[in-house]
Amino acid sequence: MYDVKSFKAEEFISDEEIRDTLAYADENRDNVELIDAIIEKAKERKGLTHREASVLLACELPEKLAEIYALAEQIKKDFYGNRIVLFAPLYLSNYCVNGCVYCPYHLKNKHIARKKLTQEEVAAEVTALQDMGHKRLAIEAGEDPVNNPIEYILECIDTIYGIRHKNGAIRRVNVNIAATTVENYRRLHDAGIGTYILFQETYHKESYEKLHPTGPKHDYAYHTEAMDRAMEGGIDDVGLGVLFGLEMYRYEFAGLLMHAEHLEAVFGVGPHTISVPRVKRADDIDPAQFDNGISDEVFAKICALIRISVPYTGMIISTRESQAVRERVLPLGVSQISGASRTSVGGYASDEPEEITSAQFDVSDQRSLDEIVNWLMKLGYLPSFCTACYREGRTGDRFMALCKNMQILNCCQPNALMTLKEYLEDYAGEETKKIGMELIERELEKIPNPKVRKTAYEHIHDISGGKRDFRF
Ligand code: SAM
Repeated sequence: MYDVKSFKAEEFISDEEIRDTLAYADENRDNVELIDAIIEKAKERKGLTHREASVLLACELPEKLAEIYALAEQIKKDFYGNRIVLFAPLYLSNYCVNGCVYCPYHLKNKHIARKKLTQEEVAAEVTALQDMGHKRLAIEAGEDPVNNPIEYILECIDTIYGIRHKNGAIRRVNVNIAATTVENYRRLHDAGIGTYILFQETYHKESYEKLHPTGPKHDYAYHTEAMDRAMEGGIDDVGLGVLFGLEMYRYEFAGLLMHAEHLEAVFGVGPHTISVPRVKRADDIDPAQFDNGISDEVFAKICALIRISVPYTGMIISTRESQAVRERVLPLGVSQISGASRTSVGGYASDEPEEITSAQFDVSDQRSLDEIVNWLMKLGYLPSFCTACYREGRTGDRFMALCKNMQILNCCQPNALMTLKEYLEDYAGEETKKIGMELIERELEKIPNPKVRKTAYEHIHDISGGKRDFRF
């Protein structure tokens, strides 16, 4: 029985409700009157239900799709401006006791190099990341209660926040580790993490169990209910995602939105971010062995529909995607991207020999951070290294309130400019610096509040003089 407010996975992600939704979407895929009404509703910028959004996903009428893309672009501009926040993943350990069939870290893989960073190695990784200019990390680890217990993760977080190298600092650590207990979520919260990220992989219970045949991750309910426990543990910024390619994308899309609706209904705050990873080639993984791969076109459609369905939720595209695909989806609503990522354990401080990799998957976009920043600016985006919101306590519903009042322009815009200025001063190549300085001059003018604009001017000036870490 579908119940958005239930705490039981199979009730807030009801298989029956998803199937009904898909049937309803099929029936109405050419129903122009209904489609127009849904698009009109989306224009109010208050989002769409999983049923409404699923109708749009089923629709293939070219003129309606053009309207959807145009609306996604407009909503992206209105809510996020031209800012794109940058981050990097940091792999702490690839020891794992699970049997996920799409991931090379699965327990039975005996030829992947198993590695777990010591605290000295964490410091070396963080120093290398700081030297590129990164300020935000997403830490990643396999699930292994013996090798990677919560105490290890907490110790790493402490080390990461403690490294001060030249003008560098990691100011926000997001965490992507396996589903855990309320108590452990509380400890992560108390350690000062940003977002807790956990991909559902698939919302289809039967497939989920087949794709996770062994290990603690096999438990569908425990995994699906993890965000509820995270919220209970005090983490109010959570990041959802599915791994596209494992199951039917339309099923996953409906499930993803139902999960967002559940969080909103129960906790009054939807997901902070949604990630849209696709299965990639990896050590002993061939993506072709999964039947549900999606084309770049469908991928773009999903991105656009996420943007108009949950306008207040950030959207993340990783380096799993190529430069070309990223370019295609950036305007459709992406707010965060990773740059210069290594998916190996210890890969930032030293290169691995190709024959014995510890990497989780192949990275498509292999450019340096400077190249990414340069590219973004040439495309008209404003690269941001901002970490202000959670450091100012603007998480969960407080962040959403800011977003809903569109006040984010008086906050995010100057913060983006000040953190970009830091990047240009400390890390950028000559050409990037030149383009960036001109961009900052132009963008400062766009800050609506004159007082904020004046203060931002002063801070930007002070950054040239050597000061750091200003924020609104
Ligand atoms: N181990 C943690 C867990 O159980 O949720 C999460 C960390 S894992 C390093 C991050 C994510 O990488 C997984 O949730 C999965 O979606 C994704 N992933 C695993 N194998 C992949 C592959 N072959 N291609 C692309 N993404 C993959």
